[in-house]
Amino acid sequence: MTDTTVAAYAAATPKAPLEKTVITRRELRAHDILIEIKYSGICHSDIHQVNGDWGDGIFPMVPGHEIAGLVSAVGPGVTRYAVGDRVGVGCFVDSCRTCENCVAGQEQYCTGGGMTATYNATDRDGEPTLGGYSTHLVVDENYAVTIPEALALDVAAPLLCAGITLYSPLRHWGAGPGKRVAVVGLGGLGHLGVKIAHALGAEVTVLGRTPAKRPDALRLGADAYHATGDPATFEQLAGRFDLIVNTVSATLDLEAYLGLLRTDGTFVQVGIPDQPMVVSPFALVNGRKALAGSMIGGIRETQEMLDFCAEHGIGSEIEVIAARQINEAYARVLASDVRYRFVIDAATI
Ligand SMILES: [Zn+2]
Ligand SMILES: [Zn+2]
Repeated sequence: MTDTTVAAYAAATPKAPLEKTVITRRELRAHDILIEIKYSGICHSDIHQVNGDWGDGIFPMVPGHEIAGLVSAVGPGVTRYAVGDRVGVGCFVDSCRTCENCVAGQEQYCTGGGMTATYNATDRDGEPTLGGYSTHLVVDENYAVTIPEALALDVAAPLLCAGITLYSPLRHWGAGPGKRVAVVGLGGLGHLGVKIAHALGAEVTVLGRTPAKRPDALRLGADAYHATGDPATFEQLAGRFDLIVNTVSATLDLEAYLGLLRTDGTFVQVGIPDQPMVVSPFALVNGRKALAGSMIGGIRETQEMLDFCAEHGIGSEIEVIAARQINEAYARVLASDVRYRFVIDAATI
């Protein structure tokens, strides 16, 4: 088999609408698998990268790092997967494999040149990486994960970025029985945080800007919902939480939120605002509070997350779209008009 030409949706230049095109996927190397993509989630970060919000991107850009599909061919050295297997690919497709973090299964924090992002990055062979808004993907078997039979591929796709982004900090900071967890923001990330934290056995509170999403939050498994637009919320919930996970990518009043932590509580940032946030050290020292961040998760932990979600019946709430609706979907994501993740049906590409 040689390089293959496959269909994809790409932005030709920064801010350009996504249009149908053809791209090349590399010939299978010894440990590569070819994936026939079935579904690809739309992550808010796709829009940031297409728009060049996070610096110069590599164009033409094929976004997509919430990929679910079936193995359709394997290289001669592949041992982990066979043709027909249900697999997923998340935010990265390679890393150095030898640094302390890679060895520990935390490839997302690779110190040997950083993880190789699934798109908008330069692969270790010098070629640009192209993501999941496509019919096929070639990836090293060590950077794919198994999607359990119990999870439908469409609702599983967003777990590969949004799901692991919440699962990893919830596990790391011990969300579970007896712990009070707050999820700030009920969007693509937050709604999965609620489901996962609830399944882990924690008491879950959603902090949303307005009361609008209260019914959804409770339906998804939250025990309580409070509107942060109401100043009384911050008095009422003072000192309440062991863990707050902030999924919002706009700046907020950090000190007000730190006031909601109990002693030894942790505030974890997973959303990425484009402006710095200010915090007084007093807000941390009084109560031995921690301000932390977390970025996706490693391959082993992503597999653990998928197995956990399968066991607990957790998938993303999705709206499946045809590829020709991608640009419209982007506009709706920016308007927060999605409950809670768009997923592209790759058969329409
Ligand atoms: Zn993402
Ligand atoms: Zn590494």
